[in-house]
Amino acid sequence: MLYRLKTDFRLSIITLLGVSGLLGITPFAVMRFVQGNLKAGLVDVCILLGVSGGVIYAWLTGDTRRSGYFMAVVSSYGAVLVGTIVGDPGLFWLYPCLITTFFMTPPRAAIAINLSAITLMVLIGEAFRGQEQMWSFVSTALVVSACAFVFASRNQDQRRRLEHLATVDPLTGVKNRRSMDAELDAAAASAERTGISHALVILDIDHFKRINDEFGHTVGDEVLVDLIALLEQNTRRSDQLFRFGGEEFVLLLAGVDGDGLKAVLNNLQQTLRKYLKSPGGPVTASFGVAILRHGESVGSWLSRADDALYQAKESGRDQIVFSDEPMPQAQFQPT
Ligand code: GH3
Ligand code: MG
Ligand code: MG
Repeated sequence: MLYRLKTDFRLSIITLLGVSGLLGITPFAVMRFVQGNLKAGLVDVCILLGVSGGVIYAWLTGDTRRSGYFMAVVSSYGAVLVGTIVGDPGLFWLYPCLITTFFMTPPRAAIAINLSAITLMVLIGEAFRGQEQMWSFVSTALVVSACAFVFASRNQDQRRRLEHLATVDPLTGVKNRRSMDAELDAAAASAERTGISHALVILDIDHFKRINDEFGHTVGDEVLVDLIALLEQNTRRSDQLFRFGGEEFVLLLAGVDGDGLKAVLNNLQQTLRKYLKSPGGPVTASFGVAILRHGESVGSWLSRADDALYQAKESGRDQIVFSDEPMPQAQFQPT
């Protein structure tokens, strides 16, 4: 439960708002019934039920988008109803709603909900004691909405940037190890479901340390960036590339059969031999390849590709070795 609260931002906001709503509104609902204001009491009860329902729905289904919309609409229009029934004390309830809509729905939807709630409050007019109060309400409600919009948009922007930074390797711009783990899990699940074959290639630059030692780290970095450009130019858009660590990269290819895979990897090997260079001359790479077996775990899949890479290095480097084929001359025979 705590894990979900920590990892799902929308769910944590919905839960927080739901609980604060329950704590804030319940005493007033009780007070309205005690005072004999049945109508207002019933509206409060409906809001409480709506908010609780939204939170429960979000937890059970994980669909925080729909529950966010639902809770924003229930609380905002509920606040308008309360204002209509109890008069100006009800106006204050709309303010927290004007702010929280931006955390529960996308900015455009939040603007629409807020403007319609403010307009409804004005058109019904019951909540105001006079013109001055009404215009003060309109101005302050708009200012609060504008501030909430700016704050929520910036927050969303920063969250997106952080998410991007957490999944991308800053030097090469390809996805990092963290995203690779998630994508390999997704690929294994998809293979199980659809039967589409998935191949994993671990690629490691040969004698890369020498390049660093002889020409410096910056030159080494440039070789890594050039390698990625060549890999991206020579693979399909649907193929995924990850930085596995250091000068090791992983290519994930879906829907390739043995012959197609052979052709792609052969082409990559030739391209690197021809175009990947350091000041010391051509730079090559070794490839370890494994095609996912039926029911195989991601760990075993990766480790077979890693073993194949090890064999490629042992056999003199600049080789493509398929898993379970120990000798390089027996390569290109996917299992
Ligand atoms: P092998 O052919 O067996 O793969 O030998 P190698 O020299 O390529 O492999 P080794 O694992 O011994 O060295 C890898 C080097 O890669 C060591 C490390 O300093 C360097 N390295 C790792 N990450 C980076 C990076 O981001 N930039 C640069 N320039 N070097 C890096
Ligand atoms: Mg290496
Ligand atoms: Mg290495």
